[in-house]
Amino acid sequence: MNFIFLGPPGAGKGTLAAQVAEEYGIPQISTGDIFRENIKNQTELGKKVKAILDSGGLVSDEVVLEIVEDRLKKDDCKNGFILDGFPRTIPQAEAFEKLGIDVKVVNFEVDNDLIIARLSNRRVCKNCKANYNVKFMPPKVEGKCDKCGGELFTREDDKLESITHRLEVYRKETEPLIEFYKKLGKITDIDSARDSSLVLVDFKKLFPKK
Ligand code: AMP
Repeated sequence: MNFIFLGPPGAGKGTLAAQVAEEYGIPQISTGDIFRENIKNQTELGKKVKAILDSGGLVSDEVVLEIVEDRLKKDDCKNGFILDGFPRTIPQAEAFEKLGIDVKVVNFEVDNDLIIARLSNRRVCKNCKANYNVKFMPPKVEGKCDKCGGELFTREDDKLESITHRLEVYRKETEPLIEFYKKLGKITDIDSARDSSLVLVDFKKLFPKK
């Protein structure tokens, strides 16, 4: 099964995607993680997109599409995949439709106050990218990843000015995708204002493993 996880930043897409990836044996493809990895390794792509990510703006459709198309050609996508953070604009969604891939779109619903509380308290493992929240989902040992012991950090774009900008960008550029996919009959809403373990239970009922 192929999935697109659609929703504002902080909706819990990444957290659920990691759990579904493990349970369903399909890769989580996070365009944001791909960019952050390139920034960390100071690649040409990383240098090009760093300022955009830091400010909370969007990378150009052309660059994102090339990365996604390349990634989907890899062997591990044969039995399915989860696109976490793509598409984010109508042109990206239209380009993806042209690939003719059957996909289920999961729309993460959560209100603004909770998004801000989640993002401003989010910490990410430098090593394995696992997500924590110092308020709602703290690690067992402060500052350390439960899974690999890696150091936890705050993403540059989880600072308040960037959060506000990312939410504006989401409402303007990405939210129209809900209508786009509704018209195509591909969208399923999920209430992601709850603990991620409950969201996973719903997800498994909606999309039983084949
Ligand atoms: P995320 O980790 O999904 O919140 O993505 C972090 C940042 O990466 C975003 O704020 C954008 O700057 C960039 N990004 C990730 N995915 C996309 C996309 N599909 N289109 C444009 N920019 C993206």
